[in-house]
Amino acid sequence: MADIVDKATRSRMMSAVRSKNTRPEMLLRKALHAAGLRYRLHVADLPGRPDLVFPKYRAVIFVHGCFWHGHEGCPDFRLPETRREFWRDKIQTNRQRDRNTSDSLQNIGWRYMVVWECQLRSAKAKAALPELVGQIEKWLNS
Ligand SMILES: [Zn+2]
Repeated sequence: MADIVDKATRSRMMSAVRSKNTRPEMLLRKALHAAGLRYRLHVADLPGRPDLVFPKYRAVIFVHGCFWHGHEGCPDFRLPETRREFWRDKIQTNRQRDRNTSDSLQNIGWRYMVVWECQLRSAKAKAALPELVGQIEKWLNS
């Protein structure tokens, strides 16, 4: 029993650790590119080093892992059974950093959007990808 929980937890954390160029992010990148949207990647001189940067629109997108960034109410965000306090603190720190990042971006006149990995991961999510791309296009042009 405990093994199953640990395994699931471990695999969730391992998938979150591969933070750059992860598969869900690649799915989104491909779909945006196919829609003719051009972006830069992981721009280091912007707050939070956003995953996707649309300079023309002064807009950025972060693809957030649901575990590390504490996606509220998401089935992919469950605290591990062990060392709960440790994980809670760690994720609280990450969320605070995310808030600071969005504030900093706003202060310098950049717009900010979060796409959660769970929006990209499941087969259902993949089917809904064109809709998400449409929403992003609309947001960029708003
Ligand atoms: Zn999620």
